[in-house]
Amino acid sequence: MDLKKLGWNLFFSACFEEFQAKNLAPARISAVHRNAYEVFTEFGEFPALITGKMIYAAGDNSELPAVGDWVAAECRPEEGQAIIRAVLPRKGKMSRKIAGEKASDEQVIAANVDIIFIVTSLNEEFSERRIERYVAAAYEAAAKPVIILNKSDLCADIEATGETIKKVAPGVDFHVTSAISGTGTAAIGKHLGEGVTAVFTGSSGVGKSTIINELAGREIFAVREISDFDDRGKHTTTHRQMVLLQGGGIVIDTPGMREFHMGSAGEGLREAFSEIEEFSQKCRFRDCTHDSEPGCAIIKAIEEGKISQERYDSYLKLQREIRSFNIRHDYQMKKAEQRKWKSIAKTMRHFKKPRP
Ligand code: GDP
Ligand code: ZN
Repeated sequence: MDLKKLGWNLFFSACFEEFQAKNLAPARISAVHRNAYEVFTEFGEFPALITGKMIYAAGDNSELPAVGDWVAAECRPEEGQAIIRAVLPRKGKMSRKIAGEKASDEQVIAANVDIIFIVTSLNEEFSERRIERYVAAAYEAAAKPVIILNKSDLCADIEATGETIKKVAPGVDFHVTSAISGTGTAAIGKHLGEGVTAVFTGSSGVGKSTIINELAGREIFAVREISDFDDRGKHTTTHRQMVLLQGGGIVIDTPGMREFHMGSAGEGLREAFSEIEEFSQKCRFRDCTHDSEPGCAIIKAIEEGKISQERYDSYLKLQREIRSFNIRHDYQMKKAEQRKWKSIAKTMRHFKKPRP
């Protein structure tokens, strides 16, 4: 298998240098199961395991391999498996909060994604706010957002929708498609090329699978379908988590992918709302949150009609969402740090005890 077709590039090969001499090979995580992985390597596709040492060394879940990650692996073709030794630095990541007790824990749902196709259908499902959210999240993942307006056969006024997109996602490419008839899908394929990794996000039922199948060639995708058991032991059908397209390009499609949240930093938000950020340079206070501070240039721009109130409202909403995530995340980090030092202190006391 050609590594370049798998997305290998100069960035990763520079990161890999320290592992070169250690009898390790680059491998890309193509699937994550509960306790095991699958990887693509130069020598083919293998099941892969992670060492206990790596699990122990990982500060939290987000440091463990995710689909799309490049890893340094010991390949054992004769045994038909690989041992993962290290995760290479990520070019970017798509993550979401894990619900439940550790509310702020981060789960990486895909790593090293180049393009995030934001799929929406041109019927009742269409929501400007949802598109803004996805665009910000795409930038946050260091990926290029591309909007797909599907089900054009069900829409009366495509032109007006196009104008709306230009307002809520300035500078973002968008394509109008009708996936059931294949209209417009060729333009989507043009974004994909050798080694380009893409994902499709959007609500259920908007046509993601139809589009992916169209791109992959229906037979390939259907044949590869396997049955699996999910965490609750319920029988479900899952398909491949990473697919190499014949015409070049890689599509990652995991169950968690379909709804992903904002990450922990605000970089994506700033890019998605660049027309608002532009004014922030002129705010009186450098750490202005543009909420209610005096001398806020953004609030002034709204009053002067230079920024739309709606755009500003969703900007604030997303900003609050990110901030509350960061606060919870910091709290968890502090707790973990405290636990670590407590256990170190305990060990030290143990060592100091005089031997009987
Ligand atoms: P997903 O949940 O986003 O993967 O959506 P699917 O690809 O499973 O599609 C959901 C439903 O929408 C299916 O019944 C498709 O046949 C239908 N569908 C997909 N694309 C189009 C389209 O362009 N026009 C119309 N009218 N229906 C579509
Ligand atoms: Zn301000």
